[in-house]
Amino acid sequence: MSNESAAQAAVEAADLAARSLHQRLMASGHERPEGDRCPICFDLIELPMYQHSKINACCLKRVCNGCILAAKRRGMNGMCEFCRTPIPDNKGSTLAMVQKRVSKGDARAIFFLGEKYFHGEGGLAKNVPRAIELWKEAAELGSLDAHCQIGLIYCNGIDAEEDKPRGIHHWQQAAMKGDVESRHNLGVIEYYNGNYELAVQHCMISAKMGHEKSLNDIKEMFKQGHAAKAQYAEALLGYRDAVEEMKSPQREEVKRLLALNQIL
Ligand SMILES: [Zn+2]
Ligand SMILES: [Zn+2]
Repeated sequence: MSNESAAQAAVEAADLAARSLHQRLMASGHERPEGDRCPICFDLIELPMYQHSKINACCLKRVCNGCILAAKRRGMNGMCEFCRTPIPDNKGSTLAMVQKRVSKGDARAIFFLGEKYFHGEGGLAKNVPRAIELWKEAAELGSLDAHCQIGLIYCNGIDAEEDKPRGIHHWQQAAMKGDVESRHNLGVIEYYNGNYELAVQHCMISAKMGHEKSLNDIKEMFKQGHAAKAQYAEALLGYRDAVEEMKSPQREEVKRLLALNQIL
């Protein structure tokens, strides 16, 4: 093979690999991962999850606000709603619980510890390089949250040298397994690259999983003439169905109580 034809073959192979990645990227990750379900009621947690659920250091399971309210009403105070471990009253004991799981290679615990270092919380001094190191380890063990955070670090150059292809790679890995935030972020990247059709395709997937920002982005792209009316309508209906599915009487009651607190 001449140098020229070898170069041509390499270009074709790279092109094929890119097309295959694109197909896998768009064909997979349309369902949220099992980790997005509350371990008590088994329903998917509403988005953004941090607003509608809580994680305790004992088991690191994300319990929805509805189940937290139900547990409180049953008189379960001061203990984890899921595993019933008493909740420690000091940062040192909380950290020790997490460290114990970290030493066993628990991806959720490693991600959680990374978060504490990143924000300088839980009695730890802020240490971003350590946070990134932990998130990389958690991502290798399958943590989608870790993939998503590393993507943010590299795409935005937060406390690390900007490396967009590397960041995008992490978002792609998580999006293909149903991580909603990563999917939306890929849509945003494509939008700023001027690839509007791809941006709509990504945001359509995350909007249909109940992600409000994705729906709003499609609405915006529709107004700008980058998305068809039918695409916006499809996203809207899919979003509504997903949101409806995540509702429960308990969860609605929490929202009513929170609204009352804000008013009073
Ligand atoms: Zn629940
Ligand atoms: Zn627990």
